[in-house]
Amino acid sequence: MKEILPINGSFELMTLPYETETLGVISGNTFTFHHGKHLKAYVDNMNKMLPGSGLEGLSLTEVVRKAEGGLFNNAGQVLNHTMYFEQFGTANHEPEGKIKDLITRDFGSIDAFRKEFEQKGATLFGSGWIWLSLNAEGKLVITQEANAGNPVRSGLQPLLTFDVWEHAYYLDFQNRRTDYLSALWQIVDWKVIDHRL
Ligand code: MN
Repeated sequence: MKEILPINGSFELMTLPYETETLGVISGNTFTFHHGKHLKAYVDNMNKMLPGSGLEGLSLTEVVRKAEGGLFNNAGQVLNHTMYFEQFGTANHEPEGKIKDLITRDFGSIDAFRKEFEQKGATLFGSGWIWLSLNAEGKLVITQEANAGNPVRSGLQPLLTFDVWEHAYYLDFQNRRTDYLSALWQIVDWKVIDHRL
């Protein structure tokens, strides 16, 4: 994954790499709030907390690895949302190439992987994130992270994530988290995931 660095001491709000109305599944209204309000607030809060933290000038990933308390909560949410929003698009909705080979090797099939990923997302209690990562042995693992958690804190290399905070789906799916999780596969751009390997 490319390093995200601060500019003059501050991180910028990431730009969505697609027209939100073109994706379907997730409405433009949800993007307006999720990206423009929720993520923007995490970016602004992180930038306010960085001076004096001892973590000034580090990449976003390094801040997430080292921060604690409120700075960790906000920086973690910035990294999590950046990976979440960047992985969607209007093409490449089926795994290809190396990522496809790894998923088939470690989960048996693409369908078996999707089923386990959705099931772990459905059973995560409260707010958090579901992740596909590479571990130190090069094996794919699915983990649940509460609140702002990110697998880089456990030495994993994160590849794919679904946000299961209610703000990610409530406007479009109300309480139907499982419908939201199964619908997201329609907008994942697997070329982005493959490039994170
Ligand atoms: Mn979110």
